[in-house]
Amino acid sequence: MMKDAAATLAILLEHVVDGAGSRPDAGVTTAILTEAARFAERYLAPLAPITDREGCRLDAGRVGTAPPHKSAWQAYAEAGWAGLTAPDDAGGQALPMALAAAVQELMDAADPAFGMLAINARCATRLLVRHGDEATREAWMPAIAGGLWGATICISEPQAGSDVGRIRTRAEPGGDGMWALTGDKCWISYGDHDLTERIGHFTLARARGAPAGTRGLSLFLVPDTLPGGARNGVSIARLEEKLGLHGSPTCGLIFDGATATLIGQEGRGLQTLFAMIVAMRLGVASQGAAVAQAAASTAERYADERGQGGDPAGPPMPIARHAEIRRLLLQMRARAEAARLIALQAAAWVDAEDEGDPDAAKRAALLLPVAKTYCAEAAFANADAAIQVLGGAGYVRDWPVERMLRDCRVFSIYEGTSAIQGLDLLLRRVLGKDGFGPLHDVLDRLAPSPVLVLAVRDTAEALAGVDARSQEAAALPFLRLVALACADGLLHRAGRDAGPLAPSYAALAAFHRTEATIEASALVQRCLSVDLDVAFDGVFAS
Ligand SMILES: Cc1cc2nc3c(=O)[nH]c(=O)nc-3n(C[C@H](O)[C@H](O)[C@H](O)COP(=O)(O)OP(=O)(O)OC[C@H]3O[C@@H](n4cnc5c(N)ncnc54)[C@H](O)[C@@H]3O)c2cc1C
Repeated sequence: MMKDAAATLAILLEHVVDGAGSRPDAGVTTAILTEAARFAERYLAPLAPITDREGCRLDAGRVGTAPPHKSAWQAYAEAGWAGLTAPDDAGGQALPMALAAAVQELMDAADPAFGMLAINARCATRLLVRHGDEATREAWMPAIAGGLWGATICISEPQAGSDVGRIRTRAEPGGDGMWALTGDKCWISYGDHDLTERIGHFTLARARGAPAGTRGLSLFLVPDTLPGGARNGVSIARLEEKLGLHGSPTCGLIFDGATATLIGQEGRGLQTLFAMIVAMRLGVASQGAAVAQAAASTAERYADERGQGGDPAGPPMPIARHAEIRRLLLQMRARAEAARLIALQAAAWVDAEDEGDPDAAKRAALLLPVAKTYCAEAAFANADAAIQVLGGAGYVRDWPVERMLRDCRVFSIYEGTSAIQGLDLLLRRVLGKDGFGPLHDVLDRLAPSPVLVLAVRDTAEALAGVDARSQEAAALPFLRLVALACADGLLHRAGRDAGPLAPSYAALAAFHRTEATIEASALVQRCLSVDLDVAFDGVFAS
């Protein structure tokens, strides 16, 4: 089933995903996705094991990548992929985020470490379209959209991870309308590298006298080199050694009076950066969908070919015939397809928001934390299950699933951990100022089973009446409950509307519904009945 990922994605975009916005016609979509799949096969599948093995190096204060990485990036840039969603006048193709999500899934299935730089480019152009002044847009957008210059998002500092309001990097105004930034940033993806000529760091900092907390933050663009070619006051403090994503350099940066341009209004940095964060979270959702797909497909292939068991006098039977392997393969395929659909749906509602639909904006805001978290967890669950299906072969490097497990572990950490996404969903999107309207709208549109709708609605109402501490404890299980309902609705819609693929989606949706119903009842209980503080104090306070 669903062997040709590009063709499947084209069908889902055309017939299944809601709120299409102005997408190109089916022929153009299919052509773009087929080309993306070809690019991934030619450049990225061979690159992933090389960069995983060789990683990056810090040499004389600069980061270098493995040589094939640079030629792959050049091919990516020359083919126009870096400007997929950038506006026409910046040399981009102005294509919607939903199509970009599908392209990203195809490419990240081969190499998510490579794709991290591409996500940054997409997010930066989106930010500049909305908040860059004319001079900044003209200088930066065509170069980023053309893949000549790179971009980063610089939020994290040693004392400011999830708690962004603790950022200490200082911004001092200069006489010429420019600013000077001083402070330390950590864990910055593609914070330095040799793939592009120049790098722009989109950086949150605090102007002198600004209030404490997130309200005092402003957003700046800090180039690594100044217009004449001299180095700006940005140095590379360290290059992290990490579990996975070895091809994606993660850097500590020091800003020492670095020349910077204000982006958007002073004191509204977080709101301004949100244009970029939305796209980053969609990007992580697509990364998750990609790895969930890649792990499931690898396991399916292996299970068909590997023979174990059966009559010793005859040939061994394919392990795909064993009941427990079948359960694993079905669970993986269900998670992979649900992740793909949820990521596409979230992106499509962002597209509709961009076209001015305020209700779609609320649906997108509600689905984003769900998509980011569900897809991240689906990737890890699938990589883990794939290793189980492959047995010893899965644990060693001959097969890519151990790399996938390492690569995807961070998806539920960066761009807001799962706990933070749960709080965003429950406290702001469900119990916030818009009331239950957006939640009900999402449920009505995606139409999950009545049992799941009731579970979500009743739990949301019950959580509205409990104290803040109980809401906090319920936030992540509640997000997982909403995710199961969204997955159920989307899989059933694919089972009805996905043309030639409908019968296999319908069978998958039926399997998923049984699993989801079992899981949902445990999640409802987890949301409503566990007093974590009593248990915690009992265990740890003595
Ligand atoms: C490979 C990699 C790439 C990265 N790339 C970037 C990048 O490009 N730019 C950038 O700015 N940052 C980047 N980061 C940093 C990343 O965004 C942070 O790691 C993340 O936001 C979490 O912050 P933290 O690691 O300090 O964890 P902490 O905030 O210390 O959290 C630790 C644990 O406590 C929980 N926790 C914290 N606060 C709360 C709360 N209020 N309620 C409930 N639970 C809570 C968290 O969920 C988590 O489980 C990257 C990190 C990695 C590992």
